[in-house]
Amino acid sequence: MTNYKELGLKVGLEIHIQLDTSHKLFCNCPTKLVEEAPEDKFVRELRPARSELGEVDEAALLEWKKGVKYLYHAPRPSSCLVEADEEPPHEINREALVTALAVAKALNMYIVDEIHVMRKIVIDGSNTSGFQRTSIIALDGYLYDGDKRIGIQTLCLEEDAARKLSQGKGFIEYKLDRLGIPLIEIATAPDINDPDEAERVAFKIGQLVRLTGKAKRGLGTIRQDLNVSIKGGEKIEIKGVQHLYLISKVVAYEALRQKTLLEIREELHKRGLKPEDLSYDFKDVTEIFRETKSKIIRRAVKSKNSGVYAVVLKGFKGLLGREVQPGRRFGTELADYARVWGGVGGIFHTDELPAYGITQEEVDKLYEVLNADKERDAIVLVADKRDKALKALEAVVRRAKMAFEGVPPETRAANPDGTTKYMRPRPGSARMYPETDIPPVLVNDELLSEAEKLVPEPFDKKMKRYVEEYGLSKDLAITVLNDLRLDLFEALVEKYRGRVSPTLIASTITNTLKMLKGEGVPIENIDDRHIDETIGLIARGEIAKEAIPEVLAYLARKPEASAEEAAKALGLTRISVDELEKIIDEAIKNNWEKIKQRPHKAFNIVMGTVMAKVRGKIDGKTVAKLVRDKLNSVLE
Ligand SMILES: [Zn+2]
Repeated sequence: MTNYKELGLKVGLEIHIQLDTSHKLFCNCPTKLVEEAPEDKFVRELRPARSELGEVDEAALLEWKKGVKYLYHAPRPSSCLVEADEEPPHEINREALVTALAVAKALNMYIVDEIHVMRKIVIDGSNTSGFQRTSIIALDGYLYDGDKRIGIQTLCLEEDAARKLSQGKGFIEYKLDRLGIPLIEIATAPDINDPDEAERVAFKIGQLVRLTGKAKRGLGTIRQDLNVSIKGGEKIEIKGVQHLYLISKVVAYEALRQKTLLEIREELHKRGLKPEDLSYDFKDVTEIFRETKSKIIRRAVKSKNSGVYAVVLKGFKGLLGREVQPGRRFGTELADYARVWGGVGGIFHTDELPAYGITQEEVDKLYEVLNADKERDAIVLVADKRDKALKALEAVVRRAKMAFEGVPPETRAANPDGTTKYMRPRPGSARMYPETDIPPVLVNDELLSEAEKLVPEPFDKKMKRYVEEYGLSKDLAITVLNDLRLDLFEALVEKYRGRVSPTLIASTITNTLKMLKGEGVPIENIDDRHIDETIGLIARGEIAKEAIPEVLAYLARKPEASAEEAAKALGLTRISVDELEKIIDEAIKNNWEKIKQRPHKAFNIVMGTVMAKVRGKIDGKTVAKLVRDKLNSVLE
């Protein structure tokens, strides 16, 4: 177990949640993503004037210099001239504003008097205008995680970016349906000190926004960025964590990465090395690989203007093979820089050679030609076009020099397995400009009292209501209060009032899904519709409650099916009491010998046989009662 306190772990969260408002933040288009729809297409080359760039980072500038073109798909049902940046934005969406104010109140924040829309420069083409519109709604609040108070720094209301469809040589394609969907962005203070706590706080914030009834649901509607540092490390920005359950892993892996990078720094000092020992001295070593068996290298050897280029990392032997995160080595960190800055596919380094078709003989030759020390030095190779390869090697040396400082300040992207990869240097705080097309909004009493209606009921009140009004056990009430689908629970209790007990709804949403997960059922496929429809079957008496797990398991594997289809396919349609009686009579007859020998076991014997046939088709209590009655009469 890692001691995160000793490591000095600090985590801040930045959570973005899409709002399910009737229209977008600055126009009247619906907030719906569309797959197949008539669309217009247009190409732009965003190149804002230099002076407007502010502190835009170098990697982005590099993109521009390459002359990337942006191809926009504008689906007609979900975009208009505002998304195309042909028409000024309309005034800010009031429904979104009221929701943001409600969340700010629930987070005990200080609400600003006047809301100003600002422009934040974006450089990747994800907004047709070249900037994202954002506005600060509230500051300086808090929430509690157990007894611990977690600061909330800011709550902003902003427009979502366009959806990236694909990226190719010199172009990026975007779809404009997502552009302009309102997002609430909540940033916590770096008050979080362990990975599980980070996940809990993110969860609480997500749940709170959902309880306003105005949050969108499903994959991609909530995105988390994390700021993670340890003592002696650096604040690292991690972008795009898509699942709540990945947060603790991402934090733990980042803490591990920083710890390992600090250990590598120690090792470099111990070896008596200095950054000046590394030189930008690149050699063309193509000749060594004329007859190589490595496919990638052979391709480079044979193409025009391409070759194999190498650099010596003096004293680095063994460090490139050092694991910094599961499955990622220090060499992988160098390779990330080579990819981003040189646009190459990757690097080879001697800590992992011979391999990939590169022989020991070729490695020996490398050391000889480069005049390097086999016991002490590492060599990095790039096989590609000369100009790309040299840029890549330059980035590799630059990154290797940073190892003497420990953890370089970076923006990283989350991988699906919880590890992260380098995206770009960490930018300075983005410069903002006032959006002159949109007048400021005064936060008046009318707005605030509208917001008040959306503020979620405090949890202690909910708890009391669930136990006293709904008859939930205290344990179940706590479980459902800690479930992300709490809003669904409340909606279904309302919808099926008087027909399905709140206890059954709560335990379906929490315990049943948890049990199915334990059985390996892909419950991430189960959405609100599936649960709603399944509870609907119960309400109409079409299935017994024992059938719920089976129906949901079926739907998890075939998410496009309806609950009704699932019940039919599983043969779970209810049977009548008459039919049940027949099945019980038959079971008694077939087991008569056993029953006579062991009458005290009769109930178990018959019940087992009958339930095997009727499970899910009729309520278990009804079966038990009837079996007992029948046995009593025949045994007398
Ligand atoms: Zn629009």
